[in-house]
Amino acid sequence: MAVLDIVMYPDPRLRETTFDVAEITDDIRQLVRDLTDTMYSLNAAGIAAIQVGRLERIFLIDGKVAGGDEDAPPLVFINPEIVDTGKGVVGAEEGCLSFPDVFIEVRRPRWAKVRALGVDGATFEVEGEDLLGRALQHEHDHLTGRLMIDLVGMVKKEVIKRKMKRWHTEHDAKAG
Ligand SMILES: [Zn+2]
Repeated sequence: MAVLDIVMYPDPRLRETTFDVAEITDDIRQLVRDLTDTMYSLNAAGIAAIQVGRLERIFLIDGKVAGGDEDAPPLVFINPEIVDTGKGVVGAEEGCLSFPDVFIEVRRPRWAKVRALGVDGATFEVEGEDLLGRALQHEHDHLTGRLMIDLVGMVKKEVIKRKMKRWHTEHDAKAG
């Protein structure tokens, strides 16, 4: 089991350009296992590879968020693309591993459909509304360098920046 360090906002690595996975190798399968361990250890609904400093286009969504039961394995999306979004635009509170303790209302399309490869290399599609629709869009955004702070107004942006500055001060003090 390997729990990886999360890249925290405003680390510029969260804005780097990602790339498609050319082949699902042992290295990629190991990365998926480590992302799974990291996501569960932090109780997250989803995680993108760029949040652990890897630029392969991969994200995971918790199995329960994806509509499975308590023990459902995470859904793994390799080289994902948004096929479509719609059913109106709704606001709801979001969190993100790269923004610890920040929860902020973000407006997004209610529904999204994503096509991707699984770890077995087969193409699949997942669609979902509300929490799942939101998680799909949030994680896909990470692979384009877009963060939830980019989707809120100036006032909320400043609040988030302040909170993150405080988080880094406390964290660096502990680490130092
Ligand atoms: Zn996030």
